[in-house]
Amino acid sequence: METRLADWIRDTPTGTAADEILRKCVHCGFCLATCPTYQILGDELDGPRGRIYQIKQVLEGAPAQRATQLHLDRCLTCRNCETTCPSGVQYGHLVDIGRAVVAKQVERPWRERALRWLLRESLPRPWLFGTALKLGRSVRWVLPRSVRNKVGVTRPPGPIPSQTHARKVLLLNNCVQPAMAPSIDAATARVLDATGVQSIIAPGSGCCGAIRQHLDDHDGARNNMRRNIDAWWPLVESGQVEAIVINASGCGAMVKDYGHLLSDDPAYATKANRIVESTRDIAEFLAGCSVPAAPRAQRVAFHPPCTLQHGQKIRGQVETLLRSLGAELVPVRDAHLCCGSAGTYSILQTELSQELRERKIDALQESVPEVILSANIGCIAHLQGGTEIPVRHWIEWLDERCRK
Ligand code: SF4
Ligand code: SF4
Repeated sequence: METRLADWIRDTPTGTAADEILRKCVHCGFCLATCPTYQILGDELDGPRGRIYQIKQVLEGAPAQRATQLHLDRCLTCRNCETTCPSGVQYGHLVDIGRAVVAKQVERPWRERALRWLLRESLPRPWLFGTALKLGRSVRWVLPRSVRNKVGVTRPPGPIPSQTHARKVLLLNNCVQPAMAPSIDAATARVLDATGVQSIIAPGSGCCGAIRQHLDDHDGARNNMRRNIDAWWPLVESGQVEAIVINASGCGAMVKDYGHLLSDDPAYATKANRIVESTRDIAEFLAGCSVPAAPRAQRVAFHPPCTLQHGQKIRGQVETLLRSLGAELVPVRDAHLCCGSAGTYSILQTELSQELRERKIDALQESVPEVILSANIGCIAHLQGGTEIPVRHWIEWLDERCRK
């Protein structure tokens, strides 16, 4: 695609990066078929090719409109289009640039600004989010159904291993997961312990920055990234930990992008790249371990989050592990499509999110599984709100087999 970026952005690092991405797009339209929002809305402007074109127009100097912002807001950032694209267009990076530029030109209505501020300032703070969640759960039955489904019911975490091992890994100090599902981190620590690996959390680490990044607070996201790098660096640099292991695929995709997102920061760029090299999704890490778990047959439907299959390009590893432990993985139609959770998307784009969840639940339930497994807290909570079948993180399922 030919580009003529406007003077105000052409020779900046952002302009150069955007130009490189835009020039790769050949307008073939292959990506349309796999875009969930295009499938539902049938409007080219709500598909990847149309969004790329709108971003190009703005970067070439056309003033952004409120409509441009809405079309970009409706994008799930699922990156399914990236997986489909034969030209290697890095749509995820481009839409980040497009959203940031549009946000500077178009002021949102005050209600939207207030909601986005509230999400940005509360979700990354575990104490605040945890308190709000407890309060929500205590008045669960009077809440509107959409909110009631989100607050869910927590499972007890169970024992946390206290044994030390020579092999150590860092776990992420997640923001929403410990409050929503403390059983996931506890199960992760037990499975790692069973394989002879001690998990530790670095003091001072916290939210990966994805929430702020997706709500256009790029400076806040970068501060989150730098804070994590500062907390992890002494342990990574000295070799005291062999990896940073992440059990929420959304956070994993974000941390694996630190190198790109901090590439223009001379104080952190090199460290960020080293952090990326050290980061493993829990499925990647366990692929190299012998897991002492007892196989037991169960009909399982696995939902691979977009951040796992399209963001981190990890496909088939969890499924292989589950099959080796006796799971009968039932076929799931359109497994490449997003469930509609997509971080804060389920709160900001409720109707599209619900439609996608219904479609996903139909596909997951078609073969009547006993349990639905996934790999990201957002997808798990979102899906559980639409089905009676238990939805769990696959590491919890594996943990139960380790304990039998
Ligand atoms: S598939 Fe890739 S090259 Fe083709 S229109 Fe979509 S983004 Fe552009
Ligand atoms: S990221 Fe997902 S929703 Fe957005 S354009 Fe690509 S396929 Fe469509």
